[in-house]
Amino acid sequence: MKKVDVFVSGGGIAGMVAAIAFERLGLSVCCADPTTPVSSPKEKGVDLRTTAFLQPSQQFLDELGLWELFKDHATPLDIMRIADTGSSDGTNQIKVVKDFNASEISDLPFGWNIPNWLSRRALQHALDASDRIEFLANVATKQVFTRDTEARVLLSTGEILSTRLVIGADGRNSLVRQNAGISARTTHFGQKAIAFAVTHPIPHNNISTEVHRSGGPFTLVPLSDRDGQPSSAVVWMETSAEAARLIDLSSEAFETEISERSCNVLGPLKLETTRSVWPIISQIAERLNGKRIALVAEAAHVIPPIGAQGLNMGLSDIKALREIAQRADDIGASEVLEKYHLTRINDVRLRVNGISMLNRASLGTLPLLKRLRPLGIQTLHGSAPLRKGLMRLGLGLGH
Ligand SMILES: Cc1cc2nc3c(=O)[nH]c(=O)nc-3n(C[C@H](O)[C@H](O)[C@H](O)COP(=O)(O)OP(=O)(O)OC[C@H]3O[C@@H](n4cnc5c(N)ncnc54)[C@H](O)[C@@H]3O)c2cc1C
Repeated sequence: MKKVDVFVSGGGIAGMVAAIAFERLGLSVCCADPTTPVSSPKEKGVDLRTTAFLQPSQQFLDELGLWELFKDHATPLDIMRIADTGSSDGTNQIKVVKDFNASEISDLPFGWNIPNWLSRRALQHALDASDRIEFLANVATKQVFTRDTEARVLLSTGEILSTRLVIGADGRNSLVRQNAGISARTTHFGQKAIAFAVTHPIPHNNISTEVHRSGGPFTLVPLSDRDGQPSSAVVWMETSAEAARLIDLSSEAFETEISERSCNVLGPLKLETTRSVWPIISQIAERLNGKRIALVAEAAHVIPPIGAQGLNMGLSDIKALREIAQRADDIGASEVLEKYHLTRINDVRLRVNGISMLNRASLGTLPLLKRLRPLGIQTLHGSAPLRKGLMRLGLGLGH
């Protein structure tokens, strides 16, 4: 039977980073995913979302020697701008605009935005370059059997592996989580996120702009220029019914809607990619550990895409797990995994609950919350300690 130190179930961005993070400790790693990695924008199934890697994630990727592969594609985010119409009646009059400027708390930008397909391509290079990592594309984890001294993993090929630690990075419906009998609490918001990229005549100046009305925020996140034109990634959150209507519109009609919904803050928007749709839920696993098992990223927690927290939380999981494991004789011992759970769970709960609350406020279905939203933004922004505290909290930095 083949033996590896670490088995990673799932080869999304989190699984790939986890594989590299443990390989860098000199360990042998096997990572399996039932799909073929897609790392070109034209291929079917490509992930057209972008990720804003916040400061701590950038530092972690740098520590792993990965930032070198990412940095040429990364667009800095210097300012987070929140604009609110305070309305749900379709008006595009912005009533409140508040800027959160990274220079108030640090010499660095808040983060750097990179298309997911480019991050995957860079990670695939790093995986291929290592002879301690075996990446199994088109292979699923079928079952995990755990004992005190090892775990055994049955793959869809029929092969069984023996390992000291199983990292569940297999997404929101994680087989590893279900196999370990770890329950998860899920909230459905009746919303979808539509993700796509646009070009626009007004430069973004490295400012990410969130425009609030009802249904959810419309967020423009800076990207590198596309054919000499300023470009941004967009995440538009809407009720499921409205998202279904929008996705069926012709490109021209959709462009009219997005320009109007963005209140023309960057001028008329031109659609540059297809539109992808993502259901919005929040979900949290009851525990982040099981016998010989650690859950990371969406296998452990899912949040609405607000404040660029999702994958950044996943990278914080991997960093914490690696730091604890590297000091231990047995990387999969129960004390190691219990410590991992205790180290991460409070931060995970805080962010899952906090972002879910923000999402409800921005959904604007409750009239009182809708009226209070602009006031809330003004209050949070108006007090310098509160404003700076909030920015540090968003980045996951100490107070
Ligand atoms: C519109 C949108 C915008 C976002 N923007 C940001 C942002 O700016 N910043 C941020 O931090 N986060 C952001 N997020 C969140 C972020 O995209 C996710 O947190 C992240 O992609 C989750 O990565 P993952 O690797 O955990 O999950 P996934 O990408 O879902 O990967 C899980 C992998 O597991 C595999 N798998 C499934 N079953 C099995 C099995 N049985 N065996 C083996 N493998 C299996 C799947 O094939 C998949 O490849 C955004 C999310 C959305 C929807």
